[in-house]
Amino acid sequence: MNDVLKKRYAASLMNTFGPPKLALVRGEGSEVWDTDGNRYLDFLGGIAVNALGHGHPALVSAVTQQLSTLGHVSNFFATEPQVALAERLLDLVAAGTGGKVFFANSGTEANEAALKLTRRTGRTHVVAMEGGFHGRTMGALALTSKAAYREPFEPLPGGVQFVPYGDVDALAAAVTDETAAVVVEPVQGEAGVVEPPAGYLEAVRRITAEHGALMWVDEVQTGMGRTGTWFAHTAQLPEGVTPDVVTVAKGLGGGIPIGACIALGDASDLLQPGHHGTTFGGNPVATAAALAVIETIEKDDLLGNATRVGEQLRTGLAHEHVTAVRGSGLLIGIDLDAEIAPQVVEAAQEAGFILNATGPRTIRLAPPLVLTREQAAELVEAWPAILAKAAAS
Ligand SMILES: *Cc1c(COP(=O)(O)O)cnc(C)c1O
Repeated sequence: MNDVLKKRYAASLMNTFGPPKLALVRGEGSEVWDTDGNRYLDFLGGIAVNALGHGHPALVSAVTQQLSTLGHVSNFFATEPQVALAERLLDLVAAGTGGKVFFANSGTEANEAALKLTRRTGRTHVVAMEGGFHGRTMGALALTSKAAYREPFEPLPGGVQFVPYGDVDALAAAVTDETAAVVVEPVQGEAGVVEPPAGYLEAVRRITAEHGALMWVDEVQTGMGRTGTWFAHTAQLPEGVTPDVVTVAKGLGGGIPIGACIALGDASDLLQPGHHGTTFGGNPVATAAALAVIETIEKDDLLGNATRVGEQLRTGLAHEHVTAVRGSGLLIGIDLDAEIAPQVVEAAQEAGFILNATGPRTIRLAPPLVLTREQAAELVEAWPAILAKAAAS
């Protein structure tokens, strides 16, 4: 990386992320280029964000047109793209009649809205999952299990109880008639693409319904086609069975910041005038971007592409030093037989591939949904040499 930029970065940006791995200048589809002109295949996609890859013409055009027409007006006013996106999202989650959307600017903010919504049930007890990640603002952080993220900022909003992910008995024991909500990721992304056992979400639905608690599914990472279906939870629940709240962000705007808290049924009317707000949330540019993302996913069958190319990667990345390859669509977790995930990321970068380590022995892939078979094959071909180099370093 350009040393001058590295120095300027260190001198001017808070050190919350550690040193940057590269300085990037340009992207196209699933490829990016750094300041030295090196090309990389992007298997991280801005952390499951760049659904259409970099510089997609449909996204560029939607944002440019909307910005030159009407860029921002605040929530004192209504705009067509905002309403159209809310309608599309309600349609995609099969909300039926009566669902409602609140727009925010990020995943953590979508979750803050949902958490505030759960308080309007009159109950404050929330059950969250060990290994779960919901964001870094104080409310979302209270639902996030990792001690290193939480402890420096305690006291956090109370009433949160953690249970082991995927354990139906533990959940049944934790949820009572005092429980406002159970919050669950359909696949735990930050934990390393951890999938619950079959039938778990159905059990979450049954247990929450028994106690009049809300079922809140955090699809911030898994939603918008990432796993090969519009939402990961729909592939795990029987048809016609829905949660009460779904939060989305990351892939929704294809790189333009936007998040949404989608409420179904009776949960739709819990937040009333004065209860919550945002200046930027749902602005015309961000919602026009999200509409373009949804239209392109449909038009180009990117759900099908995510399923097919994901399968190709899961098969192709099996290796004697790989103990498991998990996930569906283009959200993939790879467990290694030694604590060399950071070295694998490093070796991959040297070979022209951007990967991500979620832990000492786990690699996560979340490439653009437009990743081609040929691009996936490039990583598969380079994979044995990357692993060998990492093991030797
Ligand atoms: C990334 C993520 C968040 C937080 O989203 P931000 O946009 O970073 O605030 C929340 N929940 C899940 C499941 C995530 O993966």
